[in-house]
Amino acid sequence: MANPNMKHPQNVAGSWYCTDPDDDNGEGCIACNVCYTGAPDFFEEDEDGNAFVKKQPESEEDKELCMEQLEACPVGSIGFDG
Ligand code: SF4
Repeated sequence: MANPNMKHPQNVAGSWYCTDPDDDNGEGCIACNVCYTGAPDFFEEDEDGNAFVKKQPESEEDKELCMEQLEACPVGSIGFDG
């Protein structure tokens, strides 16, 4: 589960987030590019290739797409608060 206390500072406000690469629980982004390739409308890479949420999903279809990225993230770096 992504650590809600280690959110990437560039996440747009809202329930979906990516965690900071410095998360010492080992769940920080490793810049694998899965999420911002799979759902580029919602995830973007920062200058180091680490992901943040640039737009919150609203429709069920968009939430489903983001959930697919959450499940595909190899380090559990994507989360949502509900
Ligand atoms: S899928 Fe996970 S590890 Fe890969 S870029 Fe996105 S948040 Fe980072």
